[in-house]
Amino acid sequence: MDARSMDLHARSIRKRNTKCLLVSVLLNDNRLLHPINKLPRFTYPPPLPTTSKTFKTTACGGDQKVHNQPVMNPLIMPSLLLTLLFFTFSNAALDPDSVYQSFLECLPLNSPESAENLSSVVYSSTANSSAYTAVLQDYIKNQRFNTSSTPKPSVIITPTSESQVQAAVLCAKKLGVQIKIRSGGHDYEGISYVSTEPDFVILDMFNFKTIEVNIEDETAVVGAGALLGELYYRIYEKSKVHGFPAGVCPTVGVGGHLSGGGYGTMLRKYGLSVDHVTDFWMVDVNGLVLDRKSGGEDLFWAVRGGGGGSFGVILSYTVNLVSVPETNTVFRVMKTQAENASELVSKWQTVMPNIDDDLFIRILLQPVTVNRQKIGRATFIAHFLGDSDRLVALMDKNFPELGLKKSDCIEVSWIQSVLYWANFDVNTTAPEILLDRHSDNVNFGKRKSDYVQTPISPSGMTSIFNKLVELGKLGFVFNLYGGRMYEIPADATPFPHRAGNLFKIQYSVNWNDGDPELEANYLNQSRVMYEFMTPFVSKNPRGAYLNYRDLDIGVTSADGENSYSEGEVYGEKYFMGNFERLVKVKTAVDPDNFFRNEQSIPTLAGKISAPSSSYRGEARKTVKIQLFLPWVLKIFLG
Ligand SMILES: Cc1cc2nc3c(=O)[nH]c(=O)nc-3n(C[C@H](O)[C@H](O)[C@H](O)COP(=O)(O)OP(=O)(O)OC[C@H]3O[C@@H](n4cnc5c(N)ncnc54)[C@H](O)[C@@H]3O)c2cc1C
Repeated sequence: MDARSMDLHARSIRKRNTKCLLVSVLLNDNRLLHPINKLPRFTYPPPLPTTSKTFKTTACGGDQKVHNQPVMNPLIMPSLLLTLLFFTFSNAALDPDSVYQSFLECLPLNSPESAENLSSVVYSSTANSSAYTAVLQDYIKNQRFNTSSTPKPSVIITPTSESQVQAAVLCAKKLGVQIKIRSGGHDYEGISYVSTEPDFVILDMFNFKTIEVNIEDETAVVGAGALLGELYYRIYEKSKVHGFPAGVCPTVGVGGHLSGGGYGTMLRKYGLSVDHVTDFWMVDVNGLVLDRKSGGEDLFWAVRGGGGGSFGVILSYTVNLVSVPETNTVFRVMKTQAENASELVSKWQTVMPNIDDDLFIRILLQPVTVNRQKIGRATFIAHFLGDSDRLVALMDKNFPELGLKKSDCIEVSWIQSVLYWANFDVNTTAPEILLDRHSDNVNFGKRKSDYVQTPISPSGMTSIFNKLVELGKLGFVFNLYGGRMYEIPADATPFPHRAGNLFKIQYSVNWNDGDPELEANYLNQSRVMYEFMTPFVSKNPRGAYLNYRDLDIGVTSADGENSYSEGEVYGEKYFMGNFERLVKVKTAVDPDNFFRNEQSIPTLAGKISAPSSSYRGEARKTVKIQLFLPWVLKIFLG
């Protein structure tokens, strides 16, 4: 777009938006003009009860800067007035329709594809609102972030080609809007489709779902928008003795899952999903497509667990498949507190990390009501890569207290084990259900995580059960470690929680009613329990699993002024000793912190000083002030 058409575009926008403020804002590159509109403030993430950490607007910290600007040294206007005006405007968002129009104009300038092609993948709440809403909601997997007050993107772009992703990145950069990248939409805090920044767009990658399985060399190339169930199914189509070690929920997206680690029932045998990634394709901040060779080994290391949304847009991953036996065994055994659940769980954590790598047993700890009495219950759920005779012999030898019988076991194929763990009836459900992108129930939910490194005594387990019963709704998922997880060095990938961890805890609470009081109560239960667990779990730092996203453990605020110190708080919990290396890679590949979210990896610039250019908020703030001044003067001086 040349300067003249920019100007015409700006004028037409201004005409169209008579309700908007009659002010235009120059964007970062001083090329595009937009009217701005005032939107109500929002609170995301939800405030913590104790610290009341709400969204901090740029205006709150911006007064001092207003007075420091040379252009803002008016003799005429009282500084109070300016302060008030600045406060009013600096929280403003761009008008969604003008963002939409700007994308429609910008995309063809940055892509070989036709304007018509490109416009068909851009959705706006104003131009095509019903399609926009349908696309937005299709991959919202937590109803907490599907309310009328949830912040909404200005536009959604659903690219179908690599060049569309490149153009979308370049245009978002030019327009100065934040990009949120979404693949399967399972982020527990909705980070892929909600934002604390007023201007954001969603790059929805669900069309990148191609999966190429090559049994001869035991590899697969998987699009970021493919779902785990689709990957499992495509492998099963070609081989009954191959699989892939990843999560148990078939509708989880590859893009987020592999970017954050990824584990499932073969964790002890084969480690994490990222331990099997051999290459990647990604669009970087300059719109370049990088792979392992062109991006380098540091970037390759970072995109295998350093978190999605920090380094670029993942288009696909290349992975190695793993061998699975034709006969697998699964079982589910329940024991209440009255049936010695505390002793059994305590025993499980001491013997199981050293048991045969073919066995994975997860325990659900839940408060239940039995004979009108509230009591704690442990459900042991297993996947064994072998037949039931071998499994029963193994359990008899190592964990006879559980009393596993052959009749408790179900022998299944590997793909049926996937169905079993996804709570489908293996006798009546065909594997094709894995191709159903919406086979899941979407509820309201909250997750947190912890790691246990020292065995918890039976009395400790009893106190945990009692606390869960007292709280009433929250449950725990204990995920067994050991095996291959202990052999892979903590710095082999960004995921650091390897040797020394007995098991990982997921705090889990789901509900299906949008009542805000209920939500506050359940969020509070998770936080109370987290406090309660302090003596039992890892310390200094207290570990957390990135894919169990939890904004309670720290966020980078939208102004980005303390991005490093804020990032360090959650970064050390998620990545421990690997955090600093992630920061270095981030600084090298995205020095201006274009790819950012509430828990992204900060750049080194944030460590050295408050970033003056790394966040577009700073640059635009200055521009806004300069532009507002004549307007303010005009109004008040007549
Ligand atoms: C029901 C359920 C079951 C789960 N089960 C497991 C499990 O068994 N094991 C396990 O390890 N985890 C599990 N998880 C957690 C899951 O792995 C993470 O939430 C994961 O990040 C989801 O990926 P996604 O693509 O679906 O999510 P999204 O919400 O789309 O993305 C998650 C994050 O990755 C970023 N991202 C997404 N796509 C891209 C891309 N193409 N390029 C760059 N960044 C991207 C997003 O911006 C966001 O920050 C489960 C989650 C749910 C809701």
